[in-house]
Amino acid sequence: MVQEEDNDYLFKIVIIGDSAVGKSNLLNRFTRNEFTEKTKATIGVDFGTKSIEIENKVITAQCWDTAGQERFRAVTSGYYRGAVGAMIVYDITSKVSFKNVTRWLNELREMADPDILIMMVGNKSDLDSAREVSTQEAQSFAQSHKISFLETSALNSSNVNLAFERLLTDIYHHFG
Ligand code: GDP
Ligand code: MG
Repeated sequence: MVQEEDNDYLFKIVIIGDSAVGKSNLLNRFTRNEFTEKTKATIGVDFGTKSIEIENKVITAQCWDTAGQERFRAVTSGYYRGAVGAMIVYDITSKVSFKNVTRWLNELREMADPDILIMMVGNKSDLDSAREVSTQEAQSFAQSHKISFLETSALNSSNVNLAFERLLTDIYHHFG
């Protein structure tokens, strides 16, 4: 966490989760209000920044996207260095991606700051007819792991800003 001025904070957030769950589109929706149908296979690390106001403070989120390194343990420790928040994303139409949230939590435990704030996001809520993970099941999981949870759609924008804002507010209250 870097405090630039009295009222300005820069928070690094990492976005993690299995491939194709919608991480890059969540980032693009939040930082640029854009969505793309086809997956862009970026190699390396991509990031986007956006400033929002929380409790009269200007908070700049620097959001890092794994961009093609989602294979378990392929993400390097540098990716997590300095991160104060993590968004773990699964796809509500993919049970496997939800099961793997446990792996991503373990990876955070090993590689990230022990105080990192975590928001679990069930993305693609617009595809309710193909749902494989119930809201209730995800909510119980989040509660038992003491992490925040929301369902989002990067496609129709549902809850995307809210998910980032909630995570940033949690971070501000903890680190700010
Ligand atoms: P990433 O590999 O986790 O970065 O996933 P991407 O952001 O590249 O998205 C993977 C695929 O899912 C792309 O075809 C996206 O268009 C699609 N996608 C992402 N978010 C959503 C969403 O909220 N709803 C729907 N229906 N499709 C989505
Ligand atoms: Mg991506």
